[in-house]
Formats: sequence, C-alpha cells, structure tokens
Amino acid sequence: MPTPGTKTGNGLIDGGMWTAGDLASGRARSELRAQANVAAALHAAVLRSELEKHRSLPFVLAEDPDVKTALARPTAASLRAVDEKLEQLSQQTRAADIYLIDAQGLTRASSNWRLPSSFVGSNYGFRPYFRDALANGAAEFFALGTVSRRPGLYLARRVSSAGRKLGVVVVKVEFDALEAEWAKSDDLSYVTDSQGVVLLSSVPDWRFQVAGPLPDAAKARIRDAQQFGDAPLTPLPIRARSDGQVTTNGPDADARRFIAVQTPAAAQGWTLRLLTPTEPVVGTAATAARAVTLIASGLVALGIGFLVRRREAEDRRAAEREARRQELERMVEARTGELRTTNDRLLVEVEERRRAEATLHTLQDQLVQANKLAVLGQIAAGVAHEINQPVAAIRTYADNAVVMLDRDEPQPARKNLAVIAALTERIGAITGELRAFSRRTTGKASPVGVEQAIAGALLLMSPALRTRHVKLKRTGDMRELRVLGEPIRLEQVLVNLLQNAVEAVADHPSPIVELSVEATRREVRIRVRDNGPGLSPKARAGLFKPFNSTKAAGMGLGLVISRDIVREFDGQLTAERSVGEGATFMVTLRRAT
Ligand code: ADP
Repeated sequence: MPTPGTKTGNGLIDGGMWTAGDLASGRARSELRAQANVAAALHAAVLRSELEKHRSLPFVLAEDPDVKTALARPTAASLRAVDEKLEQLSQQTRAADIYLIDAQGLTRASSNWRLPSSFVGSNYGFRPYFRDALANGAAEFFALGTVSRRPGLYLARRVSSAGRKLGVVVVKVEFDALEAEWAKSDDLSYVTDSQGVVLLSSVPDWRFQVAGPLPDAAKARIRDAQQFGDAPLTPLPIRARSDGQVTTNGPDADARRFIAVQTPAAAQGWTLRLLTPTEPVVGTAATAARAVTLIASGLVALGIGFLVRRREAEDRRAAEREARRQELERMVEARTGELRTTNDRLLVEVEERRRAEATLHTLQDQLVQANKLAVLGQIAAGVAHEINQPVAAIRTYADNAVVMLDRDEPQPARKNLAVIAALTERIGAITGELRAFSRRTTGKASPVGVEQAIAGALLLMSPALRTRHVKLKRTGDMRELRVLGEPIRLEQVLVNLLQNAVEAVADHPSPIVELSVEATRREVRIRVRDNGPGLSPKARAGLFKPFNSTKAAGMGLGLVISRDIVREFDGQLTAERSVGEGATFMVTLRRAT
C-alpha cells in the first residue's frame, strides 16, 4: 500500500509529465502548421504554373488564321489541317484535349480526331464553358468529360473574325500527374471550387464530395450542365475537433488527426486545402516529453536511451521533411522554368505574327492601290472620252446661247444654260468618282449600299461597254440592300470583274455582260456573267493565282487582289461552274442590317 507521501510525489510527477507533454505537442503542432502552410503554398504554386502554361494556348489558337479559316469557311482539307495542328499541340503541351467548336456548338476539329473517342461531330452547345466563352470571350469550367468520364479544367476562348463570333476553341487540362505527385506525401491535399465541391484530390474517393451541404438549386445546376456526371455530391468525411484539429474517417478508418490549412488556388474561387497528420509527430513529441519528466524523477538509464532515440527519430523526420520540401521546391522551380520558356516563346511568336501581319497588311494595301491605278490606266482612255464629249457639247451650247442672247431670245438661251448645268454635273460626277476611286482607303468594313457601289463601278465602266458595243443586262432588285464592306474597294472588285468580262467578249459577234444581284437573309450575291469563251479547266485551275494571265498586257493580279479584298470583308469571290457559254464570277458578302 503506498504511503500518502509517495502518492503526493507520484501525483506531482504525473502532473509534471502531462504539462510537459502538452507544451511539447503544442510547440510541435504550431511547427507542423507552419510546415503545412509552406507545403500548401508550394502545391498551389505548382498547380498555378501548370494552369498558366495551358492558359496561353486557347489565347494563341483563337488568333490563329488557320483556325479562323476552318471555322469561317470549313472544308474537309482545312478542318483536317486543324485536326493535325491540334493533335501536335496537345502532344507538345501535354494538354489532354484541344478542340474547335463552331458557333452552333458542333465540334469541327479535335486533337483526338484519330481515336474512336474523337469529339468531332459531338455537340457541346449545352456546356457552360462553350456558352460563356461565346458570349463573353473566355470561360473556365471544371467538369467531368462527357465522353472520357475524366475530370479536367476546360479553358475556352471565343474565335472571332471581323466582329463575327465564329466559335470557341477549348483546351482541356487534366491533373492526374499532379494528384499522383501529391499522393506521394503523407499530407492529404484537395482543391475545392467556390461551392466547396472537391475538384482535385490526392485521395481519389474525395473527388466531387462537398465541404458543406449544397443547396438544391446548386445541385440541379450541376446536374443540368452534366458538370460532375452523376456524382452524389456527398459530404467529405472530415470532422472538425474542438482542439482545432480535424479527423478523417475516409481512407483512414482509424480516424487520424490532422492540422488543416488552406490557401487560394490558381483559378477563380478555388481553394487548396492540405491536411497534415499530427500523429505520429505530435503524439511522439508529447510522449517523449513525458519520458523526459520521468528521467528527471530518477529513471536515468531508460531516459537517456529514449532521449537519444527520440533525437534520432526527430532528426530523421526533420531530414525527411526537409527533403520533401526541397523536392517540392525543385519541382516548382523546374515547372516555373518550363513555364517561363514556353511563355517567352509564345510571346515572341505572338509578336512575330503581329509584325508579319502588319507587314502583310501594308503590302496588301499597296497591292490594292497598285491594282486600282492599273485598272484606272486601262479604263482612262474611255473615261477621258466620257469627259471630253460633254465638254465639247458645253462649248457648242454656250456659243449658241451667246448668239441667242445677241438676238434677244432669252428663253432658248436659258434652256441652253440649263443643259450646260446638267452636263457640268455629269462631268462633276465622273471626275468625283475618279478622284474617290483613286484615293487610298483602308479595308475597314462598314455597311455599304450595293446600288451605289454598282453605280460607281458602271460609271467608270460604261465608256468601255459602249465603245465595244457590249450589251449590259441588269437583274435583281438592289434598292435598300446593304453589305459589309468598304465602298471604294467593293467598286474596285466590280470594276475588275467587269473589265475581265468586257475583255472576254471582245471577239463575240453580240457581246453581253450581265450583272445580277440576289439577296438571302444573311448574304448578298453579286454575279458578273459574260458570253465569252469561258474558263478552260486549265484556266480554272490557275484562277486566283498571282501572275496567271492569258492576256498580253495582263498582270494576273486582278482576281487575286479582288479575292483578298472580299475576304477582308468576310466574304467570298468564286468562279461558278459554267452552265453553257461564258464565265460567271460571284461575289458573296455578308448582308448588313
Ligand atoms: P489579268 O486580267 O491581268 O489577266 P486577272 O487576275 O483579272 O488578271 O485574271 C486572270 C486570268 O483569268 C485572265 O488572264 C484570264 O485568263 C482569266 N479570266 C478572268 N476573267 C475571265 C472571264 N470573264 N472569262 C474568261 N477568262 C477569264
């Protein structure tokens, strides 16, 4: 039976042991919390660098001319070229999928086009990332792939041309490698979205569980967008304890204790949470501290042995922690370096492309101007005649008016003066047209009246038509009809086509050129048809190619430049398959409201 003294002594020892244990575990815990914060920040940094690398992709692709062309004028060849480009890019950047959706939601090209799981032909019109990107320019959305059933972040960006929304380019990023990396550590890591739904996790079972209960409306929204498949969105198996720690009963059925920290992560509303186990570190620290108290009360031999082992164990753990930290830091450094190189390269590419485009634009403007002056040169003789004729007439009318006034016949003299005024007006119209036509313009598109453009072109071409006895037929009602373009450039295209038609019918006994206009709800088609020899298969193959001319003085640039001009307005210039004799060229332009 113990004496009261011994009892008191034992009580003291007990009390001392527990205090030392609590102090030690408190210190260990705050040290752990600091380490956990560093680890969480490193995880977030790696995640951010991975995302940033991929974020530049949709940006560059949305500006890519091949991508724009494939959406604006999809042909089997242009789509296949984009398929291949996306395939190559996804391999280079390790993006899971890259694909191109048209404005109706239909996938037109995809990096996985060769695979049975190809997205080509699938409609993603219902996906929020598509709708948001089309409406607002860009969108990011984490979801489960409807085909692959693999989760990932969808980075979407709108593709536009001349103010028209052509579609959306999407890059899907998956995070398996990152999650596998996280899973190697003792810490449990996961990322939640703004609603608290787990998107990424080192514990696979936690994905799509929720940090707190979700309102029914939010659940319905998630289901409608098929965001997380049929995930039940059950609560995470993590419980808070009164001492500020948390326990889990998910993967570790023995309900281990953790210190939980969190940090904002790479995307909007995302939070990265990291749980670092307090067992065995804190528990060991506390036990060891208690042992130290026992040493003080006389159990020297056992105590020293324990102390040494504890030291060793702590040193080992510290070394492990340090190694882990260094490994993470090294990873971040490597990824950041990789990211920097990719970014630098992309920046250089963007700048190069911008410069090349600017040069091309200046060149194109110069070419357009050169062609215009060349056309003017060709039609100048006819137009000069057009001006000389009324000038001669004015002379005669004026002379006659003088005679009439001398005879005191003011009435007929006044009539003559009225005719003179009308003639000067006609001369004014022609010289005004000539001046406007030769002026240098930019290709900025705005609504243009079709009737005015045709009237301008005919004013310049009518002398040639008349001197060569070409009959001009006009069909179609073009009043009030407007297209997107630039008036002078549109006239230039028409003059080029009319000039070619007039030259083509030169040897025909009854030459005819027909100009017709036809409108649909969205387009206006202007056709220039002639009854000349038409286009041989060889001539057709060479059409629209620079310096391809069958004419002695031809440059073979008229059609090339005209097609460029029309394309700048998002339209098309084509040679129609001829039915019967002659050739037909068609300009299709977007209708302006
Ligand atoms: P150019 O008129 O200087 O030859 P274009 O680019 O305007 O340059 O035309 C290229 C070629 O296309 C012409 O040389 C001609 O062979 C053919 N072509 C163009 N329009 C017609 C037409 N209406 N009928 C027959 N051939 C045409």
